[in-house]
Amino acid sequence: MKKHNFSAGPCILPQEVLQQAANAVINFDGLDLSLIEISHRSENFVRVIEKARSLALELLGLENKGYSALFLHGGASSEFLLTPYNLMKKDGGKAAYMNTGTWSAKAIKEAKLFGDINIVASSEDKNFSYIPKDFTIPENVNYFHCTSNNTISGTQMKNFPEFDGLTVCDMSSDIFSRQLDFSKFDIIYAGAQKNMGPSGTTLVIVKNEILGKTGRNIPSILDYQVHIAKESMFNTPAVFPIYVSMLTLQWLKDLGGIKAIEKINNAKAELLYTEIDRNPLFKGNTAKEDRSIMNATFTLIDESLKNTFDSIWEKLGINGLHGHRSVGGYRASMYNALPIESVQVLVDAMQELETTISKK
Ligand code: PMP
Repeated sequence: MKKHNFSAGPCILPQEVLQQAANAVINFDGLDLSLIEISHRSENFVRVIEKARSLALELLGLENKGYSALFLHGGASSEFLLTPYNLMKKDGGKAAYMNTGTWSAKAIKEAKLFGDINIVASSEDKNFSYIPKDFTIPENVNYFHCTSNNTISGTQMKNFPEFDGLTVCDMSSDIFSRQLDFSKFDIIYAGAQKNMGPSGTTLVIVKNEILGKTGRNIPSILDYQVHIAKESMFNTPAVFPIYVSMLTLQWLKDLGGIKAIEKINNAKAELLYTEIDRNPLFKGNTAKEDRSIMNATFTLIDESLKNTFDSIWEKLGINGLHGHRSVGGYRASMYNALPIESVQVLVDAMQELETTISKK
């Protein structure tokens, strides 16, 4: 039986997508060839990447609104570098960043190579357990950067600051999970390996008109304008991750899109957080109003129960529940493809611990 997969990424994908992907590795499109042994410039693969790009824009409500969707290499970590490269002015470049966790901090580190970085808000004082709310973004920055969902600490931005300038958002761990007005963002980037597909490709959504204004010479492979002009085929794209991403996006569309999955995601999060709050053996790590619907982080109040709890959930077929090595405790990642039944099994495990303890 398939495990209940709470892994933080790479993570669970829809079973039917895995089946289709497996078939395509053996015989793609009835060609008697594998998907991964044909030219990326073949008609059959060009159709795949075109579909993946258009589904991404369609699901985000950004079709025909002057945005491009690109599937690039190098993970979201490369976008920490590409966004300043493509947006920060060569002379006197300035940008505003929120520091809400490990990934934001990494984005800040790269941006500092390009200009003056103003950290307008940070939750580092409380180990990134909340989202800072009251802060202002100076008018004169080239762009504002934030991380919508903090995969490690388990916080999520519920609101985004009103800002007239450009907004860049790392949505690696919650893209396609909830409805937002995506047209408020000028660049959105996300590694594929949470709500889209295997690792190895990064989705970048970029508003075309914002590019080409920095006065910098940008190496071709790092230049969003080059990738747009080449229709995301500047060099050999990651054919398998892009194919699986296309299948997952199609799966999401068939399910009813982001609106439909958001309802399911909210129900899963509600089920788990209700148990975390009810069960006297556990506590949540983050401020309640900032809790992520994708990554729920929690700890045992009495650490000596760890082995007992771990053996209960392992026996129930749960995988990937350990917290990130920098935080410890537990992290339940409830990405789009995780069924609510798996969350119920986790809740059962937490209740079984309670029963076990009360019998002792
Ligand atoms: N940003 C966020 C929010 C992430 O969760 C991750 C990876 N877990 C990254 C960036 C880095 O992504 P990658 O490993 O694709 O570079």
